[in-house]
Amino acid sequence: MRKLSVHFSLIISLLIIVLISSAQSNRQKPNILVIFSDDHAYQAMSAYGNKLISTPNIDRISKEGAILLNNFITNSLCGPSRATLLTGKFSHINGYKLNERKFNFDQEVFPALLQQNNYQTAWIGKLHLSTLPYHGFNYFNILPGQGDYYNPDFINYKNDTIRYTGYVTDLITQFAEEWLDKRDTTKPFLLVVGEKATHREWLPSLEDLGAYDTINFPLPKTFYDDYKGRKAAADQDMTIDKTMLLTNDLKVHINYSKGFYSRLNEDQKKVFAAYYDKISNDFDERKLSGKELVKWKYQRYLKDYYATAKSLDRNIGKILDYLDRTGLSKNTVVIYASDQGFYLGEHGWFDKRFMYEESLRSAFVIRYPDVIKPGTVVKQVISNIDWAPTLLDIAGTKIPSQMQGVSFLPLLKQHKDIVKTWRNEMYYHYYEFPEPHHVHPHFGIRTVQYKLIHFYEGMDTWELFDLKKDPNELNNVYSNKENIKIVSELKTKLKNLIIQYKDDEALKLFLNSEMKNTSKNHLN
Ligand code: CA
Repeated sequence: MRKLSVHFSLIISLLIIVLISSAQSNRQKPNILVIFSDDHAYQAMSAYGNKLISTPNIDRISKEGAILLNNFITNSLCGPSRATLLTGKFSHINGYKLNERKFNFDQEVFPALLQQNNYQTAWIGKLHLSTLPYHGFNYFNILPGQGDYYNPDFINYKNDTIRYTGYVTDLITQFAEEWLDKRDTTKPFLLVVGEKATHREWLPSLEDLGAYDTINFPLPKTFYDDYKGRKAAADQDMTIDKTMLLTNDLKVHINYSKGFYSRLNEDQKKVFAAYYDKISNDFDERKLSGKELVKWKYQRYLKDYYATAKSLDRNIGKILDYLDRTGLSKNTVVIYASDQGFYLGEHGWFDKRFMYEESLRSAFVIRYPDVIKPGTVVKQVISNIDWAPTLLDIAGTKIPSQMQGVSFLPLLKQHKDIVKTWRNEMYYHYYEFPEPHHVHPHFGIRTVQYKLIHFYEGMDTWELFDLKKDPNELNNVYSNKENIKIVSELKTKLKNLIIQYKDDEALKLFLNSEMKNTSKNHLN
């Protein structure tokens, strides 16, 4: 009798173990939804401290999950950021250093590894890699290149290009929901929703025109930066003053027969004209010049930028509602991230590219019910090479050793040991030059307190910023005698990162510059 009861309790125990492990394996395969926007600056979100406007739906993801405060991009540009998202590798390894090239989709991309782990995968919206994503994706419906804000074309997985009537952000949401409706519900999914917003030239949805006209946006502290001590910053072509275009960017006397404005249909043009004609007439009457003109341009830029972002946040809300309505919220990881940061007038600029904070740092919020504690704040140094490993980790899929990043899932779970031992620095390398914005190629290291940058091609300069003392990066203290030690330490760390990440081109440039510096010092 005793023997029988031992057997019985053994069977019960085994049954419990089987039930728990099967629940865990289901739990280990959550759906993953990545909403990936374009040029949406972290400082444009209330989750990241903007008090003038609000982004309630991005904030909702952050409040119900985690926010990364130091999420840095390794090459602050649209296409390269997407290539790094897909591969978990730096541009010099995945081969995608510059925009408008053909991404090699034959290489290892994380969605293909998820497919091998029973996931069905889809990319809907902007991809911008000039190659159709047949490898790694069961389904896609993407914008060709940059895509259009109004009545855009989409290329589907049958390679048919179809033009749709409507506003791009609304259409992308609609297509995402339609795919979720028709997906194979027996499998977990990865869905990447690639947003066009808030990329230049910031065409808001009709319902959002003038949404921020009552706000007078304050000028950033660095708006009138004189670029003293920073040669590359002085040599760029991305100021609101000189580079931003009155007609194409700021919609003064729009020419509806040209370019992307010609996509608008008659009804849409009427609504556009009703709003922008008044602005154009007012602009004519003011006859602005000098600082007054720049300030006017800045206000118009931000009003359209934020209005474009308003539709983006609303559409994120629509997707969150869809997940709630369909019961998917519970087992779906939701990520909202931008491909890089963006200048909203800081240093007098728009665009990105530089290793300075506004373009280096990117927004990243993530919700993972029952795994990430609501309200988690992650301050550690994370880089976009870590995104793919993290997504694989979430899906319980093996991370290939060739991937250059590491999973930050333990950080999201706030595992104490990991929090203590996590890396304190990241490596950056930007290439695209001279077109379109004349930002000299550069590489560098950012630690918690310092940033060391080397600009090359057309110049051989170094910059050092103490981010604690000078968070706006106005004082290049590289040549200050008291910084000799910290420069030397940072150079050693930088060289180690270059070697670790196998950036052979940077290593040559680094050694060359060091050799020149040494011989210069000898001559002195
Ligand atoms: Ca971008």
